[in-house]
Amino acid sequence: MNIHAQFHDDKPSSRELVERYCAATENGKFQETTTHIAKDFGIPQHRLAATVREVATLTRDDIQCIVCGAYYPVANRNDMTQNASVIKRGSDWICGRCQEDAKQQEAEELEESLWESLHDYQRIGNDVNSLPVEQSVRLLALLKHSADESLTQIHPVSHNRIDTLAASENHEIDLASSLLAARVIAISPYSPAGTVEINQEAHGHRYHPRHVAWELTTYPDAEAALIMVGGIDGPAVYRKLDERLSSTAFLEAHQDAVREIAHRAAKEEVLAYLELCLTERGLPFRVGEKTEHVLTIAMQNYSIGQVFAIIWRAARSASDYLVRSGCPKRQAANVVPGAMESFMQRALGNGWNVDPFKRPGKQAQSVLSRVVFNQILGLPDGAFSFNLPVSQIVDQQIAQRLDDAGEPNTSLDPVPSS
Ligand SMILES: [Zn+2]
Repeated sequence: MNIHAQFHDDKPSSRELVERYCAATENGKFQETTTHIAKDFGIPQHRLAATVREVATLTRDDIQCIVCGAYYPVANRNDMTQNASVIKRGSDWICGRCQEDAKQQEAEELEESLWESLHDYQRIGNDVNSLPVEQSVRLLALLKHSADESLTQIHPVSHNRIDTLAASENHEIDLASSLLAARVIAISPYSPAGTVEINQEAHGHRYHPRHVAWELTTYPDAEAALIMVGGIDGPAVYRKLDERLSSTAFLEAHQDAVREIAHRAAKEEVLAYLELCLTERGLPFRVGEKTEHVLTIAMQNYSIGQVFAIIWRAARSASDYLVRSGCPKRQAANVVPGAMESFMQRALGNGWNVDPFKRPGKQAQSVLSRVVFNQILGLPDGAFSFNLPVSQIVDQQIAQRLDDAGEPNTSLDPVPSS
């Protein structure tokens, strides 16, 4: 192995310094100590290696970049004596500049592939008026939550620190991925670095649904979708969606779908609260058949505030059980559905009044819930404050809103509604 020096000046002293610094004996030991050299040159010993680097660039010729052939740079004596196989760590060495180039090229390929899929999705030509109900609701919630002021860019969901998009992060992930799967939005080529990469095996992208930025691929109307030129008018999409979902005609045409979506949004709130109660007590959150079943029964019989009270009570029983029995946490968490069920059976059997909880500060109403309950149904706070099961409030509200919007009623007497 040879050390090569490229001098930065032509002073004889520089040459002498580097030669003495690098000079080795037959058996690989250095001829002089650094203390000795530093003293001769009047340099503090700790500054010696840095001074050598200032006067020359040193490289060793037994390690070469496999891409450009550059020699391995040497910063000090340790770099000269280290075993080549240790530096290469069993693989080939690539110099810093070639690594940078490779990263740059990867980033360019990623951006190109994101633009490609964006154009592919736009070519599908989704338009706002023909989106299924659920996608319309989800898209409007996403735009309200994450679109910028001009409605041209959709920021990563995780960037909004004031409002949540859905009841839990898992539901937010579901929401964004379902819109992507339906080609209603595409991953933005302007996503923050590191949030998306090309998935070589699946010829798609590996991405984090809460951390990537999005682009609209849905047009404001069928005509625009047909022409597909000039990009997508974000403000027009937002306005159309917002108007469409606020109208009584929408509610009338899609009553069943709205009922279903409202029920699901309420269920998500309930699940998120269960997760909150369990994780606060250090218990694992896992939803199986039993929990699903018992929550469905709870929601059929009780208001959301009452279901919250029942969940809180069951989570407390589980943590009491954990303390009393010293059992594994998973086993303690398994107590929750049974505790809810037996409490409900007693409460229903004895006609007990279950005091409802107020909305907890840690679980503010999500933007999705606001779109579903406040905007479409005209019910405040995700129907939280009503002392009726969600399905009943929703049914009543749909009936009333459709009634209000019906034939103008000239009679002052209430009209029997049979
Ligand atoms: Zn290189």
